Amino acid sequence: MNIDLMLKDPLWGAAAVQSVKEISLSYRDEIVECERRGLFPKEAFREMGRRGLLGVVTPTAFGGYGGDAPEYCLTTEAMARYNLVSSQIQIQGQRWLVDWGTDEQKQKYLPGLVAGTLVFSESISERGAASSLKQLKATGRRDGDDWIINAEKIHINLGKESDVSLVYAMAEEGLTAFLVDTHLPGIRREHSNPLGGRLMPTADMYFEDVRIPGSAVLGEPGKGFATFLSTFNVSRLGNASELLGAAQRALADATAYARERQVGTNHVTDFQGIQWILADSYGLLYSASLVRDRAANLVAAGKEHAFEATLAKKVAIDAAEKVINDVFALVGGHGLYHEQPYGQILFDIKTLRIGGGSLEVLRNYVAQQLLKSPDLRGL
Ligand SMILES: Cc1cc2nc3c(=O)[nH]c(=O)nc-3n(C[C@H](O)[C@H](O)[C@H](O)COP(=O)(O)OP(=O)(O)OC[C@H]3O[C@@H](n4cnc5c(N)ncnc54)[C@H](O)[C@@H]3O)c2cc1C
Repeated sequence: MNIDLMLKDPLWGAAAVQSVKEISLSYRDEIVECERRGLFPKEAFREMGRRGLLGVVTPTAFGGYGGDAPEYCLTTEAMARYNLVSSQIQIQGQRWLVDWGTDEQKQKYLPGLVAGTLVFSESISERGAASSLKQLKATGRRDGDDWIINAEKIHINLGKESDVSLVYAMAEEGLTAFLVDTHLPGIRREHSNPLGGRLMPTADMYFEDVRIPGSAVLGEPGKGFATFLSTFNVSRLGNASELLGAAQRALADATAYARERQVGTNHVTDFQGIQWILADSYGLLYSASLVRDRAANLVAAGKEHAFEATLAKKVAIDAAEKVINDVFALVGGHGLYHEQPYGQILFDIKTLRIGGGSLEVLRNYVAQQLLKSPDLRGL
């Protein structure tokens, strides 16, 4: 639902959404099987790379499209809308590299991440510390020119499939981000089995005395908070877009079913109570899209956007949770089977409610910003 995204080229946007639809159709068997088994659909992902969907914000010099937050939002939303694997973390990795990487790091990783021949993961969460980066127990210790990494990370999307992971660990200088090649000795990866986001399987990752070169630090030692904070507002817009896409899919599929389904002499959509659900759900998605679009346009214009991006994810969660709850009224018992998408979409939405800034953390931030403002930001 692109209402107000200011794309560099709307024709490119239409072609990108069309590509998402086509890949989703051609790789349907792989996607259905991977979703059932909690596996990563590698072939579909590679095709997304070939068709330019993984490098939308990376500069053309590295093979990307050179877009910005509007292009990122449009494509991540379409991937959720048409049930294709998410590009969100892959793009997040590229943004980190573009903003903070050395020339050597950019050359080493960006072309492969754009093409999908390299897969990225971000290793932040730990058993004892998730919403709080200050509590991380992972360590990075200098040894001559090298670093030695010790860490136990959990919930890592594509932890097992990724070729490079951005590992957040404590160094003597403070929180530091390390680009770790995940095929190095000392790294063990075990799939976990999440209810939501099943096309992006999670893993527990164990790093035991992993030796990496000095050149693997992203940014500077001790500047981990800066690298983290620099991308997380925009990644929230990616999450918001996925939430909106998932809820749109549920509403569109459920309405198509309800239009055809006869109950007595009526179709389900003849009932006024059902029509109200459709009107309310569409209204919620439309409003949340507008908030997301405005935040994305602010990013592209180089303007302050932290409040708007946080609000965008918050209202997208509110909208998506209400919509997915209500669509069960449209589909009745038919919707309560594994073969139908609704249960999976419900879990996908619950996962996005937690990962990358949980609803509670977002609400804390929005409320704090409002209370800092004498007129409650124009209220
Ligand atoms: C499927 C999945 C994929 C994930 N992928 C990744 C990944 O790729 N990389 C990665 O590093 N991590 C990943 N995560 C981890 C995710 O980022 C964390 O789950 C998230 O940060 C929340 O941490 P937690 O689950 O430990 O909750 P906790 O930090 O234990 O919080 C528990 C509850 O308390 C709430 N809460 C926390 N602080 C406050 C507060 N101040 N006020 C009010 N409520 C609060 C939270 O919102 C949450 O509901 C993933 C998680 C899941 C489930």
